[in-house]
Amino acid sequence: MTSITPTRIGRRDPSRIVLDWADGSSTTYTAAELRRLCTCAHCVHELTGKALLDPASVPDDLIQNDLRLVGSYAIAVQFADGHSTGIYPFAFLRKNDPAQA
Ligand SMILES: [Zn+2]
Repeated sequence: MTSITPTRIGRRDPSRIVLDWADGSSTTYTAAELRRLCTCAHCVHELTGKALLDPASVPDDLIQNDLRLVGSYAIAVQFADGHSTGIYPFAFLRKNDPAQA
């Protein structure tokens, strides 16, 4: 199994996160898009999988204040709305590329 790890994570613009992949492609998320994809227990019900987060409650101009690596497989994002419990595995980020929806 090949691990999916970005070669670079760009976040100079706090409203965007850009992941560059080893094959030369890249994936860009706005902070709002990432926030809406959060799968933590506050945003998605752990047992039923039901969405608890209303996507409309996330402002399009949301920014992130901090971003850190979780092991070698994911990032955790601290959003300006105070939410920071979401963990985004790289494979998840690659698969949910908003440009390929
Ligand atoms: Zn969440």
